Amino acid sequence: MYDQNNVFAKILRGEIPCKKVHENEHALAFHDVNPQMPVHVLVIPKGPYTNLEEFNAGASLEEMGGFMKAVAESAKIAGVEDSGYRLVANNGADAHQEVPHFHVHIFGGRPIMGRMIKKTE
Ligand code: AMP
Repeated sequence: MYDQNNVFAKILRGEIPCKKVHENEHALAFHDVNPQMPVHVLVIPKGPYTNLEEFNAGASLEEMGGFMKAVAESAKIAGVEDSGYRLVANNGADAHQEVPHFHVHIFGGRPIMGRMIKKTE
């Protein structure tokens, strides 16, 4: 069940400010409040989707397209289109998703990100 009081829902309702990067009909992008990289932007759909499963089940193709367009456009506006960037979506408990509103992180602005997640057993 979607939590209407999560922090991104409050941002969408204008109850909490954000440093907006980009917005379209279906998505909003803003700077992460605790950046992990020189460029750290979050892109969220405007609809009430907790995770990718809910987004997949409930979003129209137009919403999905609008969301992906916002990701690409936000990377361009943030200045990392040419240098490259990493997209991360923490989805669910094992991924340590903290905010229960589906979102994609755009990380960039520094070449030393490492190749991928380290293997730990
Ligand atoms: P995740 O673990 O993928 O759910 O990450 C949630 C992200 O939201 C974290 O990187 C937080 O720093 C970020 N965050 C939490 N509250 C805010 C806020 N009010 N404005 C911008 N970013 C936020």
